[in-house]
Amino acid sequence: MGEPAPIDVRAPLLAWYDANRRDLPWRRTRDPYRILVAEVLLQRTRVASGVPYYERFLARFPTVRDLAAAPLDDVLAAWEGLGFYRRAKHLHAAAQAIVNRHGGTVPRSYEVLAALPGIGPYTAGAIASIAFGLPVPAVDGNVTRVISRLFRIRSDVTRPPARRRLAELAADLVSVDRAGAFNQAMMELGATICTPVSPACERCPVEGLCLARAAGEEREIPLSGRRAAVRTVRVAFALIEAKGRVLLVRRKPGELLGGLWSLPGGEIPPERPEREIVRELVKEQTGVAVNIRSRWAPIARTFSHRKWSGSIYRGAPQKPPRSHGDIRWIPISEALRLPLVPFHRDAIRSLGGLEAFEGR
Ligand code: SF4
Repeated sequence: MGEPAPIDVRAPLLAWYDANRRDLPWRRTRDPYRILVAEVLLQRTRVASGVPYYERFLARFPTVRDLAAAPLDDVLAAWEGLGFYRRAKHLHAAAQAIVNRHGGTVPRSYEVLAALPGIGPYTAGAIASIAFGLPVPAVDGNVTRVISRLFRIRSDVTRPPARRRLAELAADLVSVDRAGAFNQAMMELGATICTPVSPACERCPVEGLCLARAAGEEREIPLSGRRAAVRTVRVAFALIEAKGRVLLVRRKPGELLGGLWSLPGGEIPPERPEREIVRELVKEQTGVAVNIRSRWAPIARTFSHRKWSGSIYRGAPQKPPRSHGDIRWIPISEALRLPLVPFHRDAIRSLGGLEAFEGR
């Protein structure tokens, strides 16, 4: 690790933030529920793509009580397209805990916030500092990068010793008077100037205090031993339809896209022919015997650690199926109202137009 950096980053950083901060909808409020929604949504979503979702989500669930009372399916449907659906389930569970344990008021304490389901130290710190002004840090990926460069931390930031050191430094740095603004300034610096590959140090308000910059190591730090490899996995799904209805299954909690409604099918071993195995998968998952026809669409989808490559096949049931439990044989118009795997929604929509189906 490097020398301790001067702690005087606060004043220049806050002045820079006041002059340069982006005007974002969650920065116009101190409503802790709105800040909770924004922080969870932005964990894996870029700011530009997150804004319309944030606005739609709050229009649909304007208060914590509205969110807590909503069925999980409605919450997942509002989240559809954002990915990382576990976030939506956590947000829903947190809202229910706020209503059930805290009378519908977001708790004003870092420790109590951190004890809510799905709320980690980062989100608890962000809400506590931004909504309530409590002097606690909020260390996300951007802040990790900024601190490790400022202090020239040359150990693996994915490992506990460096993480502990980062947490200590962040706690020392946070401004007592303007904790929320300071934490947002750190995040903003990481998102717009101190970026992962090409930091714009010449425009950085704390360039003169940055130890990595002084050592010419700003592109090398932070060090990370854990470079997640993206694994390509073959998949095949079946678009089973007849008389304006489609066959859907619900993906199991805990698996990729868990909780969403999906075409039957999934990951397949590399050696088996797709058409053959997709028929078996439909039977196994739904109990329905089907005839598989042509290949309908290719699949190439990348998730955080996995890439799906394969095909959607079109087919028809040998006998009209029955809906039960997490298996549905439903009109296309109803299917499109469920929280669906997004590229399965596209496939169902592309069947030729809803009106054409309903008119058959
Ligand atoms: S000087 Fe460069 S590396 Fe250091 S904090 Fe600023 S942008 Fe990041």
